[in-house]
Amino acid sequence: MSSVYNDLTLAMKRKTDRIESIKKKIKNKEVMLTVSRVLIYSSVILLIFQLNSLWNKTLSALNNSTFIDSNAILSLFSSLSALQLYTIIILVISIIFHSLYLKSLANLNKEYNSLRIDIISSLERKFCEHKEDCNCKTNYIKYMDELNIDVIFK
Ligand SMILES: [Zn+2]
Repeated sequence: MSSVYNDLTLAMKRKTDRIESIKKKIKNKEVMLTVSRVLIYSSVILLIFQLNSLWNKTLSALNNSTFIDSNAILSLFSSLSALQLYTIIILVISIIFHSLYLKSLANLNKEYNSLRIDIISSLERKFCEHKEDCNCKTNYIKYMDELNIDVIFK
């Protein structure tokens, strides 16, 4: 923790803690988003390589029943190889997680940005415990720069 942190007002300390924690959560979510994206791409590529066999299995499952009912889906799934089945399951799960991460990342970014703008406004008001002129504001901006948090531009 930088030395400027100790000179901040209590409210600014809380805001700084919070924005750092949101920033960490955003980074984690971005990693998880990349992982789920890689899983989606790899399973799609894997399925494309098996397209011919998948297509034949779908056709025969549809031929064996007049309507697309649960039996057709069941017979399709029972005809799939273990690899195809796992690939489809991984694809579906990755898509679900990917959309959950996207939604949660959007919420985090919204929270992050409103807190960031709030901190920018705080920089213009009482911000540290010092009575006279000090370097806290400059040091704080530098400190946030190191964390890759922009507290200058709204
Ligand atoms: Zn100060």
